[in-house]
Amino acid sequence: MLNVYRVELIFVEITGKLDNVLQVIEKAKTKRTPDMGEVKLIAVSKTKPVSEIQPVVQYGIKDLGENRVQEIAEKVPQLPADVNWHLIGHLQTNKVKYIVDKVAMIHSLDSIRLAEEIDRKSAAIGRVMPVLVQVNMAREETKFGLDEKEVPDFLAEITRFSHLSVKGLMTVAPFVEDPEENRIVFRQMRALRDEINKQALPQMEMRELSMGMSNDYAIAIEEGATMVRVGASIFGTRSKF
Ligand SMILES: *Cc1c(COP(=O)(O)O)cnc(C)c1O
Repeated sequence: MLNVYRVELIFVEITGKLDNVLQVIEKAKTKRTPDMGEVKLIAVSKTKPVSEIQPVVQYGIKDLGENRVQEIAEKVPQLPADVNWHLIGHLQTNKVKYIVDKVAMIHSLDSIRLAEEIDRKSAAIGRVMPVLVQVNMAREETKFGLDEKEVPDFLAEITRFSHLSVKGLMTVAPFVEDPEENRIVFRQMRALRDEINKQALPQMEMRELSMGMSNDYAIAIEEGATMVRVGASIFGTRSKF
């Protein structure tokens, strides 16, 4: 079914979209201050087949985002070993064991129980897992993540886990018609990170801000995102998730 012509068509279509995204990123970077650091594009490949992900990896994007443990486990052996897999969706405690040896970072730490399990399973294979703490900045009932006010105590409590390393914060901003509406959410995230860094907890270098999706990543970058998670704008819209 996948003849050469079709493969080439997929390549052209997807790398064209990817090119666009990279241009938007470059433009947004001109609107931020130098102290905000670099921006990493995480291509969110959830629900997409390996045949559509390959062009993106060949193009040089080595960070892929997935939200389901099962899907990561299936895709890892089918793509190059130098891909960094990011778990961006809600993670159940009983599934940690399936991915500790596969992912480069977990973006969705949102409970002490989960921190404990990530710590335990990472220790068992002798690694320290980079994690981000998910914040429900806009306090949407339907969203996972900690309330902004809970974050400092949460961080203080998880410093006892030596096999996870908190690298920063992550949020899923509300779905809005006009992405400008989310600017305040992204700004509050940066303020929260900077505030926490002033308290200088041991072993924590909270640099990363994982925020911004297809709808609003340009605004997120302007407000200091260091990682943007972009799916639909690269791979096309999904029928589920
Ligand atoms: C699906 C998803 C994304 C990407 O969303 P798009 O709108 O397709 O860019 C980013 N972050 C999380 C947590 C997601 O689940």
